[in-house]
Amino acid sequence: MSSPLLRCPRCGQVDAVQKVSAISAGNQAYALYTKSGRVLPSNEGMPFASSRSPYQTPLSERLAFPEHRHGCSLALLITFAAILTPASAVLTWINYSTASGDPSSANQTTLLLTFVLTLMCIGAALICLLMRTRQKRLDKPRHERALAIWNTLYYCHRDDCVFVADNPLQIANSRTMHTLIGY
Ligand SMILES: [Zn+2]
Repeated sequence: MSSPLLRCPRCGQVDAVQKVSAISAGNQAYALYTKSGRVLPSNEGMPFASSRSPYQTPLSERLAFPEHRHGCSLALLITFAAILTPASAVLTWINYSTASGDPSSANQTTLLLTFVLTLMCIGAALICLLMRTRQKRLDKPRHERALAIWNTLYYCHRDDCVFVADNPLQIANSRTMHTLIGY
């Protein structure tokens, strides 16, 4: 072990430092880190290891990688593609059976309306899918770069300090972490 332990740039201590990705993953076990990311299990001389803070869960949410929403939401896509389209298709089929048994103009109008409704649901599902695919593709390089930076971030529990291992001048806190990863 040649590289020194990672120190918090604010308080200069090693005992309350934890990797951001480990906190985000809900890892409660404290460890000591070096710049190369080596993790040394530690339980002695670490005052922070014994005091389990109740704000760990909101903290892990704040330090989680901020995934962006892509265009129209997944819920909207599922609503159109998996619920409304099949439902209106079944309705069209029922109205078709009714209209073929009794071809009155009222039944034919109902059939036409439900058919148009099915087409509109299919169209909405396709538009949702295309918007999501396009935005994900445009967002990919930024997303990968930000994720790579996020994977090098460390957090000091003593003073709410997020820092980059290779550049201790880059400091933020758990609420402004996004400024470090630019995402
Ligand atoms: Zn600190």
